[in-house]
Amino acid sequence: MTDIAVIGAGMGGLTLALALVQAGQRVTLYEQAPVLGELGAGITLSPNAVRVIDWLGLGDAMRAISVVPEVQWTQHWQTGDVLRQSGRGADFAAAHGGAGYYHIHRADLHAMLAGALPPGVLQLGKALATVTTDGTMRFRDGSSASADVVVGADGVKSAVRAALFGADQPQFTGQVAWRGIVPVDALPTAVQALPPGIHIGPQRLFMRYPVRGGRLINYAAFVELNGWEGEGWSIPSTIEELLTHFGDWDATVPAIIAATPPSGLFKWALHARQPLASWVQGRVTLLGDAAHAMLPFMGQGAATALEDGAVLARCLTQYQPATALRVYEDLRRDRTTMVQTQSRLLGLQFQGEDPAKLGAGPIRNEESLGLFHYDATRTPI
Ligand SMILES: Cc1cc2nc3c(=O)[nH]c(=O)nc-3n(C[C@H](O)[C@H](O)[C@H](O)COP(=O)(O)OP(=O)(O)OC[C@H]3O[C@@H](n4cnc5c(N)ncnc54)[C@H](O)[C@@H]3O)c2cc1C
Repeated sequence: MTDIAVIGAGMGGLTLALALVQAGQRVTLYEQAPVLGELGAGITLSPNAVRVIDWLGLGDAMRAISVVPEVQWTQHWQTGDVLRQSGRGADFAAAHGGAGYYHIHRADLHAMLAGALPPGVLQLGKALATVTTDGTMRFRDGSSASADVVVGADGVKSAVRAALFGADQPQFTGQVAWRGIVPVDALPTAVQALPPGIHIGPQRLFMRYPVRGGRLINYAAFVELNGWEGEGWSIPSTIEELLTHFGDWDATVPAIIAATPPSGLFKWALHARQPLASWVQGRVTLLGDAAHAMLPFMGQGAATALEDGAVLARCLTQYQPATALRVYEDLRRDRTTMVQTQSRLLGLQFQGEDPAKLGAGPIRNEESLGLFHYDATRTPI
C-alpha cells in the first residue's frame, strides 16, 4: 500500500487526510503546531466546498455549527443603499443540489475536521524543514521520515514549495486587510437585525456576517494603502486606526468597528503569489494555499483547498502515485489559476471609483463565474 505524507493540518490538509483514511489509504499528517487551533475569524462555505464536507459525511455536523443567511447585501459605502441582494437561503440551496451557503467560525470548522480523524494519523509539533523529490522529509526537531507521496498543504508560506519549487517573491498588492469579531449584543439593535453585507466604496471594502448561531459578527475590511507591508494574520491593530479609514462610512460600519474588543483587531498586508508552472516534482506535490494562494475577494481560498483535497484523494485511490499526481495537477491547475486571477480582478472592481455601478451591470464574481457548481467529489478523474 502507498505511504502518503501530508504536511500541514489546515483546512486542505485535514480534508485530504480524512478522505484518504475513509478510502482505506495509509496516511500520516504532520503539523508544526504543538496544539491544534485556528484563527478567531469567520469563514464562508459556498456550495462547492459544502459538497466536499457532505462527501466526507460531515454535512450534519457542519450545518449544526453554521449560520445560513437568507440573503446577502452589497451596500453603498456612504448611503448604505442596497446595490445588490443575493439569495442565500433555501431556494439557493435547492438550486445547488442541497449544498447551501454557510457562515462558520474557522475554529469550529477546523475542530470538526480534526475531530473526525482516527487516532494515530495526526502528528503534532512536526515542523517540516525540507523535503526532497524522492519523498524524504526532514523536520526541524532533527527527525526524518519518508513516504511514497508527500503533499505540501502547509499554507501560504509553504516550506514544501520553497524546497522544491523555489522560494517565491510574493508581491505586495497595495492592499491592507483587517479582521475582527464583535459580540452581537455590543451593537445597536438596528445593526444586529441586518442581513450579512458587503459595503463597497472607492479604495475600500468592508464585509460582515454572523457566526456561532448569530452571537458574533465577523468582519473583514480592505483598504488600498501603501507604506505598510506586514505579512501575518495576527498583527494587532486598533479601533482608532481602522476608523481613520471607515469613520465617514454609513453608520453601520463605524458602529461595528467601534464595538470590537480591544485585543481583537488584527491587520495584514495582502500579497499576491504568481501561479506556479507545475505542482509536481518527483513524489511531491502541493495543495491549497501552498499551491495557489489567492486574494480573499471571492472567499474561495479554503473552498479550493477542500476541492484539491477531494480530487487528490480520489486520484491517489484510483491510480498509481505518479499517474495520480499528474492527473491531479491537470484537473486542478487551470481552475485554481482562474480563481486566483478573478479574485484579484473582483477586488479591483469592488473598490472602483463608482460603487453604485456595481448593482447596475453584469459582474464577474464567484457566482456568475459558475464556481459554485463545481463538484470535486464527482468530477471525472
Ligand atoms: C481572515 C481570513 C478569512 C478568510 N475567509 C475565507 C472565506 O470566507 N472562504 C474561503 O474559502 N477562504 C477564506 N480564507 C482563506 C482560507 O482561510 C485559506 O485559503 C485556507 O485556510 C487555505 O487552507 P490550507 O489548508 O491551504 O492552508 P492553511 O489553512 O493555512 O493551513 C496550513 C497548515 O500548515 C501548517 N504548516 C505551515 N508550515 C508548516 C511546516 N513547515 N511544517 C508543518 N506544518 C506546517 C500550518 O500550521 C497550518 O496548520 C480566509 C483567510 C483569512 C486569513
